[in-house]
Amino acid sequence: MAAKRGDHQLTIQIAIAIVLAILTALLLPTLASIGYEPSGDAADNVVTGESELIARANYIIVPLRLGGEIFLRVLKMLVVPLVIASVMAGILGLGDVRKLGKPGAVAVVYYLTTTVLAVIVGIILVNIINPGGGSSGEESRANLLESKASAKEKIYTAIADESGTTDEDVAGVLGDGEYIERKNPGISRVLENLVLMMFTDNLFKAAANMELLPLIIFSIAFAGLLTTMGSKVTSIVTFVQQANDALMGFILLVMRFAPLGIFCLVAARFGQANITGNFLGELQKTGSYSMTVLIGLAVHAFVTLPAILYLFTRRNPYLFMLQMSQALLTAFSTASSSATLPVTMESAIDEGGVSKKSVDFVLPLGATINMDGTALYEAVAAIFIAQVVGADLPFTQQVIVAITATLAAIGAAGIPEAGLVTMVIVLTAVGLPIEYMSLILSVDWLLDRFRTTVNVFGDACGAAIVEKSFTEDQLLADHE
Ligand code: ASP
Repeated sequence: MAAKRGDHQLTIQIAIAIVLAILTALLLPTLASIGYEPSGDAADNVVTGESELIARANYIIVPLRLGGEIFLRVLKMLVVPLVIASVMAGILGLGDVRKLGKPGAVAVVYYLTTTVLAVIVGIILVNIINPGGGSSGEESRANLLESKASAKEKIYTAIADESGTTDEDVAGVLGDGEYIERKNPGISRVLENLVLMMFTDNLFKAAANMELLPLIIFSIAFAGLLTTMGSKVTSIVTFVQQANDALMGFILLVMRFAPLGIFCLVAARFGQANITGNFLGELQKTGSYSMTVLIGLAVHAFVTLPAILYLFTRRNPYLFMLQMSQALLTAFSTASSSATLPVTMESAIDEGGVSKKSVDFVLPLGATINMDGTALYEAVAAIFIAQVVGADLPFTQQVIVAITATLAAIGAAGIPEAGLVTMVIVLTAVGLPIEYMSLILSVDWLLDRFRTTVNVFGDACGAAIVEKSFTEDQLLADHE
């Protein structure tokens, strides 16, 4: 399907919204101090003056955060019904679940290959740039001593803030630091957990927690069963297909509000960082580490993925990137590939011209398990921490980092800063202390946005590549 003119306009509006949001965040201290006459006390006391400024900035940040949260919730609200309806409609459209064999195998090979390539790029770069060595390593060690005492609490609270859960929930997911240190999860245990992640004993609980993997497995199995039941189930089949179409229409409706929602999300988060966090200072402190992650992500997004896409589809990869830009900008703004999923599906079909069959099948699964950016970041972060600690990781240990970073990325949920949680797996596998995660905590919310964008682009390229493994007959229904 050709891209519509309105789609381009919307993309431009979203891009403008992000630029305006960052400007607003940068100007926030000025905006907050308009008409502010420091009282005698506050003028004498810098600390009181600062907290007064933060309080005034909150009058601007709170409504922005509210607007952003509403947009995010509406997007997330669509994810579970959309995943079930689209995966089922995809299988029903094929007529027989067995026809999924080849595309399924291609998808899994694609997910794994690109994730491993991303990890390799990350490991090569972090070894060349050596961000944790030399004087920056000394500085990081000194910073760590200051923050070590409350590191665990900070990690739990920061992740809880970002993912909208409580710190107890985060501790539960981590199995609690002490527990982890004692048990030291080996690779076999990680694998066991990954396999178990595919199954649930309660579909409703999985839906409520947005655990997409068991829902996808159920949808494939259930739709597969329906294809064998013929005319007895025509109403269910029609219902699923109509629900899927209607939900895609719903996404278009929600996207009309995207410029506003995205403006609020970005302005609130960047504004908060600017006013409370000495944001630029933090970025400088972790400068070479952040640069290593960003260069790695750029190599993956602008070289590796485009090369693979071109090789298998002969598409112009940069045009495809442009076509996917609504989804990529949404990923940057929400830091969640799951929340972005509805937009990714819509853009891939309507703007990227990828067949709906491939999108229905590849994207929901990809948003859950295919996270190239996350894998790259986990490998870089783990080796950076080793460099700071002064541990010289030999080749075999680096291979273990590569394997566990791949598994940790597969296991990470598509929510903000999920990669930070699963990085515990990588660190413990090579015996690095998890307290050192506090070194990278302050910039994680920002790096998360870039790696989520790469994750989503990786998924979209996957849909375009897997499309080639469907037969003409299978794709025909798309163009009816
Ligand atoms: N936020 C990322 C995503 O949703 C996951 C992560 O790396 O934390 O794709």
